[in-house]
Amino acid sequence: VGHALGGIAAGWLVRGAPVSAPSGWRAWWRDVFVYVVLGLLPDVDLLFGAHSGPTHGLGVALLIVLLVWATKRAGDTQGFALSCGIAYGSHTLLDWLGTDTSAPVGIMALWPLTRTYYDSGLQVFMAVSRRYWQPELFWRQNLLALVRELLILVPLLGIIWRIKGRRGLSP
Ligand SMILES: [Zn+2]
Repeated sequence: VGHALGGIAAGWLVRGAPVSAPSGWRAWWRDVFVYVVLGLLPDVDLLFGAHSGPTHGLGVALLIVLLVWATKRAGDTQGFALSCGIAYGSHTLLDWLGTDTSAPVGIMALWPLTRTYYDSGLQVFMAVSRRYWQPELFWRQNLLALVRELLILVPLLGIIWRIKGRRGLSP
């Protein structure tokens, strides 16, 4: 949930947030969907049993900017490519600010420049439990983590919405 909200916040920060778009709500929702997917995408490495590895590197965020930019045929005046890269990179930032309890601690934030793991030590966000075989602990820990994420990210999203709110996007 945190990474989904972070992705939207990052995307809106770059590209503007919807205030009213009588003809273009679909475009806004499509963008929100893209930002959510990009905000979550770095954790695909969980499927390969290698959490917080190269997919968390800002080099991949840069690659996404270039890929989206290259596939936009009519140019990219709205900054969509950049907003996609920033949405992806928001995952790196949130993980860096979070709490990591399993080794290697941190994330490969600067991959491919270095394979060093970085961790801010700030523990702004709580660790998420994946120990589903301990249901009581699992639910308590993750519920608390969720509440904390919402308390931090929803107001942030509101602020960005206030500051960056704008009317419909041109296609
Ligand atoms: Zn992650």
